[in-house]
This record gives sequence, C-alpha cells and structure tokens, in this order.
Amino acid sequence: MNRWKTLLQKSISKAEQLPAHFPTPPGDIDRVIDIYPMRINPYYLSLIKQPGDALWRQVVPDRLEFYDTDGMDDPLNEENLSPVPNLVHKYPDRVLFLVHNQCAVYCRFCTRKRKVGTRAMHVSLETIKAGINYIKETTTVKDVLVSGGDPLLMDDDRLDYILASLRAIKHVEIIRIGSRVPCTLPMRVTKKLAAMIKQYHPVYINTHFNHPAEITPEAATACKRLADAGIPLGSQTVLLKGINDDPEIIKELLYKLLRIRVKPYYLFQTDMTKGTNHFRVPVEKGLEIMQHLIGHVSGMAVPTFAVDAPGGGGKIPLLPNYIEHIGDQLVFQNYCGITCTYDNPSDKKEMRLVHGKKTAHCR
Ligand SMILES: *Cc1c(COP(=O)(O)O)cnc(C)c1O
Ligand code: SF4
Repeated sequence: MNRWKTLLQKSISKAEQLPAHFPTPPGDIDRVIDIYPMRINPYYLSLIKQPGDALWRQVVPDRLEFYDTDGMDDPLNEENLSPVPNLVHKYPDRVLFLVHNQCAVYCRFCTRKRKVGTRAMHVSLETIKAGINYIKETTTVKDVLVSGGDPLLMDDDRLDYILASLRAIKHVEIIRIGSRVPCTLPMRVTKKLAAMIKQYHPVYINTHFNHPAEITPEAATACKRLADAGIPLGSQTVLLKGINDDPEIIKELLYKLLRIRVKPYYLFQTDMTKGTNHFRVPVEKGLEIMQHLIGHVSGMAVPTFAVDAPGGGGKIPLLPNYIEHIGDQLVFQNYCGITCTYDNPSDKKEMRLVHGKKTAHCR
C-alpha cells in the first residue's frame, strides 16, 4: 500500500485517542465529534507542538463548536445553487464540482463542516457522472473547480477518470483542483500523481495553508513536484482567531508560500458556518492586515482579502480605503498614508464608478 494510505489509516478520530498524544486533551468533545467528525493524520499530528497551538486549534475539536448559535448550516446557499448533487453553479462561467467527501484532516473551521467526512455528503460514481454531464451540457462553463472534501484523497485512477472526462469537453478551458493535501498530507503528492495531472493541462491547484509552521520540507517537496509538473499553485488562506490573525504571522506565511512556489490567492474572512464562530475575527482585522501587506511586502505575496457573502452572493473583495475622492482629479493615499493625486482624463468620465449598477449577466 502507498505510504500516504497507511498514514491516513493511522489517523486518530476518537476522543479517547488524544491522551496518548497530549497530556491535557480537551474534555467533553465526544458529542462534538458525533456531529462534526475528527481526523488527524500522523503527519499533521507530528507538527503540533503543544495543546492549544495554531495547528492544534485547526484540527482538535472544541466544545465551543457546540455552542455556536449565530452560524448557519449552509451559509453560502450551496444546496439551492446545485443543479445536480455535489455541483454548485453560482457564477456563469465556472462551477464548483465536489467529487470526494473525505479530507486528510477535518478542519474545525470548514465551511462545509456539516457535510465533509459524514454520511450527509454522498459522492458516488453516479453523482460524478451526473456532474460531468451537466458540465458537458452547459456550454457557458469554462472553468471547473474540482473540490470536495479533498479530491487528491481519491485514488489516482478515479481522479484520472474525472480529469480526462473534463478535458474531453471542448468548452472547458481550465481545470482547477482545490486540495489541502500539500499542507495536511504532503506525501500524497507522489511523482505518479503529478505526472498524471500533467496530462490534462491547463490544470491549476489551489491549496490551503494557514500558518507558517505548516510549511515544512515535506510540504515543499509536494509543491515542488506539482510546480515542476507545470501546475501553477495558489493558496486560499482563512483568517482565524488566535491562529493567524496577526500581520506578522500572515507576512511570514505569505513569504514562505512564495518560497515553495505557491502564489497567495485569497485571504478569506471565515464564513458564517455553524460551529465556527469562535474562529471569526472582525472584518476590520483583515483590512488592517491588508494595510500591513500592500506596498510593504512583495506584490507577489499579497492575496485578495474576500468575504464569501452569505446567501450565495459570491466572493466580494475588500480593500483598505485608499481613495479620498474621485472627480477631475483622483485623490488617494499611498501605502504610507501620504496623499497623492492623479489627473483623471475627462473623456473617461462616463467610466467612473457607478455604484449599484448591475452588469449584463447578473440577475
Ligand atoms: C469560490 C467559488 C468559485 C470560484 O471563484 P473564483 O473567485 O473564481 O476563485 C466558483 N464557484 C463557487 C460556488 C465558489 O464558491
Ligand atoms: S481540507 Fe478543506 S474541505 Fe477538508 S475539512 Fe479542511 S477546509 Fe474543509
């Protein structure tokens, strides 16, 4: 058996397995685990230095998950935006295609925590075929995001079948894979896997790192394999209270990502998912972090800070406010707070920002 599969089998998933690894495990989490499963594989477990640290908090259940009364089961309204099971069609030109229900760890802040790793998420060859058919019939779809769960936890053959089927559809221009495996179980990224994915270019992989301590030699090797196979890599990071809600930690993370050839893509405000409110920080915190990044660090390191609007509104980018005034002159501040001006060409007046105006394809 592959080493990664052996490791996955040795994951801890029950509260009574924690004391063997930590002197002071959290009490009273059995009921939490009944609803939101736990899985910590031996690799990720080995990165945890002490109870309560930034990696522990991402994967060890907390009683607070139970006491969240603000959250929603499906904050992004994904169920109602699904024309076929496990496929979310929100934007005209791209779909989110959920092809697997397992992950290498179960993140406590997961947006789909009501589903991943539970029976509530039924993924089968039938739902996969139905998704592929929907994409085949929907010619507006140019970009398919293969996600889950974690698609890279599938066997090579199953993933190969999905990628080959998508690549055979003429109107599908790009394929994206969303996977936390380069961070949470990097040994899954075998040479064979990279060579298989490479056949279906252009394929992009967006992975998900939240803390500099996750960037290990093993993670670097996984990302090198993928990047050497010509797969551009991005990271979607979630802003998490007490884990990475600090400009210095985020800066260190972003530079370390660039070092392993991963381009920071999004920094997300935590969704309103039920069971995650102890991770949410005020939006102002994210804006403050962006202000510490823009202009101060390599532009290559700067992600887009975004909130995925509850109800299915989609991702909305948020920027610190640099604009003081737009008229015949643009009056704006630079990264140090110094006011600058730019003469706004008068023949472009009709192009000025019109708030609340819908673009053609929006309903
Ligand atoms: C995030 C997401 C996408 C992709 O959005 P991008 O901004 O293009 O990365 C597409 N569909 C759904 C449902 C999503 O949640
Ligand atoms: S790896 Fe992604 S999908 Fe899986 S539990 Fe973590 S955040 Fe959720």
